[in-house]
Amino acid sequence: MVNWKYSESIESSEIVNIKKKYQNYIGGKFVDPSSKKYLNTVSPSTEEILSKIPLSNQKDIDSAVKAAKTGFEKWSSITPQERSQYLFKIARLIQERSREFAVLESIDGGKPIKESRDFDLPQVAANFFYFAGWADKLDISWSAKELKPYGVVGQIIPWNFPLLMLAWKIAPALATGNTVVLKPAETTSLTALHFAELCHDAGLPAGVVNIVSGDGSTGANIVNHKDINKIAFTGSTHVGKLIQKSLAGRDVGLTLELGGKAANIVYEDAAIDQAVEGVVNGIFFNQGHVCCAGSRLLLQESIHDQFIKKLEKRMQTLRVGNPLDKNTDIGAINSKEQLDKITSLVNEGVSDGGDLFQIECELPGNGFWFRPSLFTNVQPSYSIAREEIFGPVLTTLTFRTPEEAIEIANNTEYGLSAGVWTEKGSKILWTADRLEAGVVWANTFNKFDPSSPFGGYKESGFGREGGRHGLLSYLKASL
Ligand code: NAP
Ligand code: MG
Repeated sequence: MVNWKYSESIESSEIVNIKKKYQNYIGGKFVDPSSKKYLNTVSPSTEEILSKIPLSNQKDIDSAVKAAKTGFEKWSSITPQERSQYLFKIARLIQERSREFAVLESIDGGKPIKESRDFDLPQVAANFFYFAGWADKLDISWSAKELKPYGVVGQIIPWNFPLLMLAWKIAPALATGNTVVLKPAETTSLTALHFAELCHDAGLPAGVVNIVSGDGSTGANIVNHKDINKIAFTGSTHVGKLIQKSLAGRDVGLTLELGGKAANIVYEDAAIDQAVEGVVNGIFFNQGHVCCAGSRLLLQESIHDQFIKKLEKRMQTLRVGNPLDKNTDIGAINSKEQLDKITSLVNEGVSDGGDLFQIECELPGNGFWFRPSLFTNVQPSYSIAREEIFGPVLTTLTFRTPEEAIEIANNTEYGLSAGVWTEKGSKILWTADRLEAGVVWANTFNKFDPSSPFGGYKESGFGREGGRHGLLSYLKASL
């Protein structure tokens, strides 16, 4: 085999002006945190400190919620057409600044530039365009008398798709007439703080969007604030449960988009080479930091050996390294903490008795890296087959019959997504019908569209984002 070498092709970072220190965006103004405290945000690919972001406290959240309450009066008094125009303006500004945002996302979060450039940013703009189109059509879809916005919505998002999760949250909330207080994850707040500038440039009325950075305690202060009308959370099942407990007995709406451990089922009649590509994309996209990642490969026993051989060969061609190199397939792990979690679960998988394959490649000296990994010879009881690893690690299980595939696929507390690979349409429908998962992809994986609802079953959460269903998550029935 010819061993093709790639020359580096580094995306310039000059387009981004990363400030030394950031401020919160509250009531249409950039303000210092009253806590006077800051957190460092680092580049996970170099460990360099990029900037300082506010560590907001209860007082900061209090002023953000007050501003959102005032903003709600203004936002409710303008016409749906005007709300729509603001959202279109934001969408267009995102497109104009998409290179800057893509580079910043890759620097601050570690994801490959080809993904932030070709997936995250186009999806961010598409979500704002999509929901902009809905803002003035709500009354023809439902009776406006029955459905009203919640008011002030607290939104808490994770670090794996920082700006895209922001778009999934802010676009439908604003389109339905709510105002928001959003907290990005502490390791990846920079694109959200730059997005605040963009809202400012769009002339969005003061208080409609408020961005406050901080850590878990900042998120908890949003959840516990007495004037919050709804919480929309994306993150771990553990924190989701804490939030649900905090809100018990309060008249506060809640949607939870939580973790996953998706089965990617390959039947023996599948187009094997395409399935290998789909399995690779399903688990190694975004370093496996994907809630709906196809992290459990379910192979029909008869094709196991052939499939694993092809898969290992394909994995060996993945290029790990600098997120700003346009050739990079696998960037940096988002944080030291996440790297430690992945490492410990993988070590446990080995000591449990799983066979581990890792690709051979050079890893950069600094930064947080993990080799794309594949486990075979795994028992369903192992932690690597049950727990969300949230890294570039695929676990293989086998089955003999379609019934057994369903049993194994559903044998998890999660239910966010699943994949099925087969030549037979009837088998796709039979399988999809029986899978307990919010999204089922057939002969593809990780496909997204703003018009398509996304969300979980069981401990993957409740509520939907995207599509008409996503609008309903931000509308309250007033009977
Ligand atoms: P996480 O630890 O639950 O954090 C999510 C967000 O909640 C962060 O902004 C975090 O702040 C904040 N937070 C932490 N403790 C909190 C508390 N007690 N009260 C309120 N907010 C709190 O999750 P993560 O590690 O960032 O993200 C990975 C998880 O997100 C995975 O389980 C993944 O599956 C899930 N996820 C789900 C979806 C979906 O759509 N279902 C999409 C993406 C990710 P800090 O960052 O400052 O700690
Ligand atoms: Mg960072």
